[in-house]
Amino acid sequence: MYSSSGDSNGYHQDNKQQFGMSQRDRVRRVRAKSRDGFGEEQKVTPCTEFDKAYFNSYAHVGIHEEMIKDHVRTNTYRDAIFHHQSLIEGKVVVDVGCGTGILSIFCAQAGAKRVYAVDASDIAVQANEVVKANNLSDKVIVLHGRVEDVEINEEVDVIISEWMGYMLLYESMLGSVITARDRWLKHGGLILPSNATLYMAPVTHPDRYRESIEFWRNVYGIDMSAMLPLAKQCAFEEPSVETISGENVLTWPHVVKHVDCYTITIDELESVTTTYKFRSMMRASLINPRVPVLPTVPSNNSPMDGSQRKKRTNPNEALVLSTAPEDPPTHWQQTLIYFYDPIDVEQDQLIEGSATLTQSKENRRFMNINLRYSSGGRSFVKESVMR
Ligand code: SAH
Repeated sequence: MYSSSGDSNGYHQDNKQQFGMSQRDRVRRVRAKSRDGFGEEQKVTPCTEFDKAYFNSYAHVGIHEEMIKDHVRTNTYRDAIFHHQSLIEGKVVVDVGCGTGILSIFCAQAGAKRVYAVDASDIAVQANEVVKANNLSDKVIVLHGRVEDVEINEEVDVIISEWMGYMLLYESMLGSVITARDRWLKHGGLILPSNATLYMAPVTHPDRYRESIEFWRNVYGIDMSAMLPLAKQCAFEEPSVETISGENVLTWPHVVKHVDCYTITIDELESVTTTYKFRSMMRASLINPRVPVLPTVPSNNSPMDGSQRKKRTNPNEALVLSTAPEDPPTHWQQTLIYFYDPIDVEQDQLIEGSATLTQSKENRRFMNINLRYSSGGRSFVKESVMR
């Protein structure tokens, strides 16, 4: 989801101003409406060079193609929008990070009176063309700029956004949704998704270990075990985004962070810490604790299941966009943090420790991960950076 190349498509209108240097890079303050309706000062996060590179990465078609082709994701959003049609019809919506405009158009199709489709990336140019080609220019207003900077001169009834990164919090886009909420959302307004939860669990993944590490023991008949330390260092240094299945998971998951989009604050997201205690439900020769998975709930108590696997049964059941290993895969996959050396666990063996996810000081879109774990009388610390 976070591509790294950076050519723009040559469109330089508001964007020049948007990403222009001096003014933008200083902390500005704008008037924002507080939750109790009285005006208050709000700090505006400056747009850094890293942010510009981040928005540039969204100017490429591939990243949008991947997201849109993730049918679990896109269908769940569409279902959530139509499930909340009564709260969207005739109402004003902001789409925080509209990309190609797809969610804004779903909202217009659901009867929104007006949709502000905001994106700081040059993809906003294409979004505008898509809106025009679908004769929705009278309803969908594309604003090419950051939600932190653009002006919308009315309160909105609904905020929709697809802000979730790998491991839920990677990319740190949720802060922009909070900014939009505090700037424009009416009291009693709707946020989609309403909440999200990041989980972790210990997993075993011997195949991956074998492919990357054991391989060096015998290479064309040559003993290349001398490569092992380097192979472990390189293969397992960074968090790894890959798809595993429910069979890899050794215990019930633990909640790392629950996000209530109505109340969460930007400060709360700077660093998230959890302590955990797992009891392995099976014997496993290799374990790589920590696979955060991120079921998210893009609606308030609404029915339907994003995976399209289960039937809509109870109308009060939440509509869940799950990225759990036991559910159909999504482009978020799972994020694994490997031990340099796997450890053996017996059934019922205790694995305990803590995990801290901190936005990198250098680039808040990166995530520093500190994982502490103890098991079988041994303790370890693993530090990694998701960049
Ligand atoms: N809503 C689209 C795109 C989601 S990807 C879809 O569901 O397909 C997230 C988008 O948010 C990217 O296009 C990115 O450029 C944009 N974005 C992230 N932070 C933003 C901010 N602070 N202001 C405006 N756009 C932002």
